[in-house]
Amino acid sequence: MVIILKQNHDQKQFDNLLNWLEGLNIKTSLVKGEQSAILGLIGDTSVIDIDMLKAVDIVQSVKRIQEPYKAANRKFHPDDTIVDVPCPSSFARQIGGRNFTVIAGPCSVESRVQILDIAAKVKESGSAMLRGGAFKPRTSPYAFQGLRAEGLELLYEAKKETGLPIVSEIMNVNHIELFSNVDVIQVGARNMQNFELLKELGRLDKPILLKRGLANTIEELLMSAEYLMSGGNKNIILCERGIRTFETYTRNTLDLSAIPLLKELTHLPVLVDPSHATGISRLVKPMSLAAAAAGADGLIIEVHNDPSHALCDGAQSLTPEAFADVINSLNGILPALGKTI
Ligand code: PEP
Ligand code: MN
Repeated sequence: MVIILKQNHDQKQFDNLLNWLEGLNIKTSLVKGEQSAILGLIGDTSVIDIDMLKAVDIVQSVKRIQEPYKAANRKFHPDDTIVDVPCPSSFARQIGGRNFTVIAGPCSVESRVQILDIAAKVKESGSAMLRGGAFKPRTSPYAFQGLRAEGLELLYEAKKETGLPIVSEIMNVNHIELFSNVDVIQVGARNMQNFELLKELGRLDKPILLKRGLANTIEELLMSAEYLMSGGNKNIILCERGIRTFETYTRNTLDLSAIPLLKELTHLPVLVDPSHATGISRLVKPMSLAAAAAGADGLIIEVHNDPSHALCDGAQSLTPEAFADVINSLNGILPALGKTI
């Protein structure tokens, strides 16, 4: 980090600044030019609140040279993280490395029959895990809100029946106990910056699937991963699920370039959600293949046994047959990428 100081700055304020930095274990090196002075900071600058620094009277501007995230940074952890998904009474899974992990299931758990039927079908096609929302973040308070605790119970039943580990979204910090049988806890796009929730989930060692917010930068996504990791939880999986742009033909715009960029910036596995990214079921297959080709570690796809009657996100949901076709096509390209489902 580099601080550009105002011209003719006050010496006492400068000494105060140095003392403050010293207290944070930061060493400094001053370069005095004719017009300005530049203070280079050496040490772990991730502990510095950059806004506080900018507010100091004698500071003209501040420039970061290193990324503000550490635990998630590939610079300090060059090897890919492989997240273990331990699953008592079922298959254990690994996400990352040479594994290409496909997670499939309905947007929402709607009934016992629905979730058991979909679970059996996606398993047969090769899905590694079952997704299903029990607590749903809906724009309208009048829309179906999910079966809540009962939905988690039904998901658990499907896990016991099929052996598939289960993935479900948490929205409330007080619900953590309820999620004890959920193998991967999803933090949805709308909660990517719910920092109190992230802090609590950071205390667990359960895998967390962290989705990128609707209008969040890649760096903000990594800073949210940092919240989880700084609490001690190293089992973080990132998910690109499309961002808001001016385009209206699709529900969101899938940021494919985020995949290779994230793989460069972080060691954490990166999944892609082509369902929420496009909002259109017929775009899910091409975007799934594109995501795999761009280096994703897997996909999370919405599948419904009767999309036209789905209580949530039917238009983007694949039928089990269409899902089987996506897996088939993925199997055609993954060997060339050195990965397998
Ligand atoms: C979901 O997975 O059903 C969901 C609501 O996703 P997102 O948070 O990406 O919108
Ligand atoms: Mn959905």
